Amino acid sequence: MNLSYWEIKFWLSNTDFTIVGSGIVGLSCALHLRERFPKANILILERGFLPQGASTKNAGFACFGSLSEIIEDLKTHSEEEVLQLVKKRVDGLNLLKQTLGEKAIGYENYGGYELFLEQDDLYKSCLEQIDRINQLLEPVFNASVYSIKSNSFQFKNIKEQTIFNTFEGQIDTGLMMEALLKKVQSKGIKILNNCHVESFVENGNSVKIKTNLFEFSSSKLLISTNGFASQLINQEVKPARAQVLITKPIKDLHIKGTFHLDKGYYYFRNIDNRILFGGGRNLDFKGEETIEFGQTEQIQNRLEDILKTVILPNTPFEVEHRWSGIMGVGHQKKAIVKSLSNQVFCGVRLGGMGIAIGSLVGKELAELACH
Ligand SMILES: Cc1cc2nc3c(=O)[nH]c(=O)nc-3n(C[C@H](O)[C@H](O)[C@H](O)COP(=O)(O)OP(=O)(O)OC[C@H]3O[C@@H](n4cnc5c(N)ncnc54)[C@H](O)[C@@H]3O)c2cc1C
Repeated sequence: MNLSYWEIKFWLSNTDFTIVGSGIVGLSCALHLRERFPKANILILERGFLPQGASTKNAGFACFGSLSEIIEDLKTHSEEEVLQLVKKRVDGLNLLKQTLGEKAIGYENYGGYELFLEQDDLYKSCLEQIDRINQLLEPVFNASVYSIKSNSFQFKNIKEQTIFNTFEGQIDTGLMMEALLKKVQSKGIKILNNCHVESFVENGNSVKIKTNLFEFSSSKLLISTNGFASQLINQEVKPARAQVLITKPIKDLHIKGTFHLDKGYYYFRNIDNRILFGGGRNLDFKGEETIEFGQTEQIQNRLEDILKTVILPNTPFEVEHRWSGIMGVGHQKKAIVKSLSNQVFCGVRLGGMGIAIGSLVGKELAELACH
């Protein structure tokens, strides 16, 4: 691309920090850099017309772990590690609320429910361990998190008892991302969309960055591309596609809250009198390990089947729209936040709870680059 003198001078010169990716991590990172360096030139490069990964695609659960998930995590992590994971998610959610305000992100605290299919083998152990897990989490919440509630939403083909989480909430993902983008722009941080970072090389005290449109140099480079990370850096992150559908508005919708089903492989919630429903990656882990957006018949059919037989067995509904997003996952649940050199840093592998930890990971990434 043949850039003008003005374009080069105003947008692409003397760049102190370049962030790749304008998801929740990249945007939060930019805000923290601005706090530390009021005068710095901060640039965000985003390959999509909007952020095109997970942050504008997700289900908007403001969650920190269902009971079965915590029990499963305790098989591979110590109690202290699990406690720290939960604490981080709670701290991250608080930071997000503080940064933007509950109203601006459409935060609602309807609570969360874990449902168990008839054949679910975790049901018994969840009921048995509820007191133990409540005790474990007491230092974070100063209260009991999980309790048993009967199935009051007329779901079918599930166990009669559900596990209620009084601290779980939901956000409006679109509102949250719009508020975050506005805040970033109001702080004089530049965002260039449709700009794909293809490669970079370190060059003395700076990093030379090549995009699909131009090349330029930046003092520091911060990579927050989550599921797409392996296109730029060599870290243990795999893409994981997640498929979602949403119904048309349903008159007198009786369901309110966030719901986890079948060990968290399925999740649904109310929004605008509709049901948003996602999951089913466990039907084809290998096929869903992709950076390509799209839907498959196998997963979409299963989602519709569960909607008909479990979630809305007595209510007519129509599916209005379907989409997918790309997450970043790995063997470990912890995000990778690290310095790759003196000039290059990454904050990636956010997994399925990026709303909860995204703001915090962004802050940690910024702090790495401040030294
Ligand atoms: C369907 C779905 C449902 C989910 N539901 C929930 C939920 O209910 N609650 C929850 O807490 N979490 C949920 N998540 C996870 C959460 O959305 C993510 O963990 C979080 O958004 C990750 O944020 P991020 O900023 O790290 O990554 P992303 O939002 O993916 O941002 C990365 C950005 O980098 C850009 N990019 C990539 N490569 C390049 C490049 N080379 N050059 C320029 N730009 C590039 C991408 O376009 C993208 O915008 C869900 C995810 C999905 C997909």
